Amino acid sequence: EEDKSFEGAADTDFAEDERRKEAAQAFEGVRRDLGKTYLPLINGEYVKTQDVIDSVNPSNYSQVIGKVGLISVEQAEQAMQAAKAAFPGWKKTPVKQRADILRKAGDLLEERRAELSALIVLEVGKPVKEADAEVSEAIDFCRYYADEMERLYQGVNYDVPGETNRYIYQPRGIAVVISPWNFPLAIACGMTVAALVAGNCTLLKPAETSSIITAKLTEILIEAGIPKGVFQYVPGKGSQVGAYLVSHPDTHVIAFTGSQEVGCRIYSEAATLKPMQRHMKRVIAEMGGKNAIIVDESADLDQAVVGVVQSAFGYSGQKCSACSRVIVVESIYDTFVARLVEATKSLNIGEAELPSTQVGPVIDANARDRIREYIEKGKAEAKLALELPSPAQGYFIGPVIFSEVPPDGIIAQQEIFGPVLAVIKVRDFAEALQVANGTNYALTGGLYSRTPSHIQQAQEEFEVGNLYINRNITGAIVARQPFGGFKLSGVGSKAGGPDYLLQFLEPRTITENI
Ligand code: NAP
Repeated sequence: EEDKSFEGAADTDFAEDERRKEAAQAFEGVRRDLGKTYLPLINGEYVKTQDVIDSVNPSNYSQVIGKVGLISVEQAEQAMQAAKAAFPGWKKTPVKQRADILRKAGDLLEERRAELSALIVLEVGKPVKEADAEVSEAIDFCRYYADEMERLYQGVNYDVPGETNRYIYQPRGIAVVISPWNFPLAIACGMTVAALVAGNCTLLKPAETSSIITAKLTEILIEAGIPKGVFQYVPGKGSQVGAYLVSHPDTHVIAFTGSQEVGCRIYSEAATLKPMQRHMKRVIAEMGGKNAIIVDESADLDQAVVGVVQSAFGYSGQKCSACSRVIVVESIYDTFVARLVEATKSLNIGEAELPSTQVGPVIDANARDRIREYIEKGKAEAKLALELPSPAQGYFIGPVIFSEVPPDGIIAQQEIFGPVLAVIKVRDFAEALQVANGTNYALTGGLYSRTPSHIQQAQEEFEVGNLYINRNITGAIVARQPFGGFKLSGVGSKAGGPDYLLQFLEPRTITENI
């Protein structure tokens, strides 16, 4: 019941002149700061580093957004020691005080919304509206987890005559947060503030390509009142600093969001007991998807086409929730594919900061090359239905649609994480469900149908963490669509939902004979 009363932050209404003016000013502000250096925060101090990398604008990679200092393993160790030292104090800090720091952070994020979304647009090439929605999500995580921690703190009483039984939660200890670049603010913020409000000292290692936006998050958390050593910003190489922190004997919780490959590696690494380690590590791993939308013969095709296009090509397909397979029954297959191709042709492809842009760049050269390889593989195993051209100076890939894709083909099984959509033809709804479930993943899924029995069957049998019926399958909202997958999409964790904080807490039962 409580969850229903939660009210999320409203996105910016860009129809208002004033808001558009603010956005333009925010871009100017961010441009004035281009090229600045951002340093890690260890034990309350911004520290110099040996390695410094450039973070560039994917829409125009000759533009350096800023320089980021990457920590060494020695500095990671210093951060760990500082976190350990700060833990006893943070653990004892009243829950109300911790929750209020999050609420303050939420307010600061809201005040700086335009600046933060401009930075998201420029650092990771996300179109303006989607960047704005991402800031809303970050705000919601702060406010919702603050409420949630206060709820959980109540604990449970199981008293009986002659005996009190208190069920309570305590923090686990040191949390290592490892975040991806595709929701550089919201996901980093959500995992971090959850760990913090639960009373854990927290080290945030962002994805390298999105380290500046997390440097801004760091400023905000400090301003909101997070004490020295309790939160530390530790940008560094995942394979080196990330791996070091994962295997550290003093790490209690690892909150990871990213690829299946890295998630599985972290899961197994964390399972190995290290010398001096006296606890089991808790791993929260939220990983990739190969998400499908099923379109049956009763679907409203106007709705289905729009929903598939949005879900597949929003942020160039670089959302874990993105639709990368559309499974269509044969009676409407040809009509649907023709309409899908037409609708996709009308998308505006361009620099992320242009208000008209619907499809921006992909994140970097590696991603572009990897996606291009998948497109070649697709050409070998399926029929190319559409390949749109793309601008030259950024990391662009125009939307691509393959039809007649075999359900077990490479492009129907592997996460491409780009604007590439596989259309699969099936005989009937039963086969559609079977194909939909026939991958390693179980993150999001969708169904367009007006047949009640199909809708019912999908609810029971479509193996996904988030099922969307007759709407697009991206854009989950905190405390409305708690988000996360199972199978090889993740450990069944639900960000923005009522079970999320429990993963950062140690439950205890205290019985007293009276
Ligand atoms: P990634 O390559 O797995 O990287 C994620 C994070 O892990 C980065 O901070 C990376 O650091 C770090 N890392 C890399 N190797 C590591 C290691 N050996 N030990 C510890 N940390 C390591 O993923 P990504 O490309 O950033 O993000 C895209 C992926 O995330 C997609 O698969 C997408 O589906 C998934 N995703 C899932 C969700 C969800 O909620 N389920 C949400 C968003 C994204 P470096 O950057 O320094 O390598």
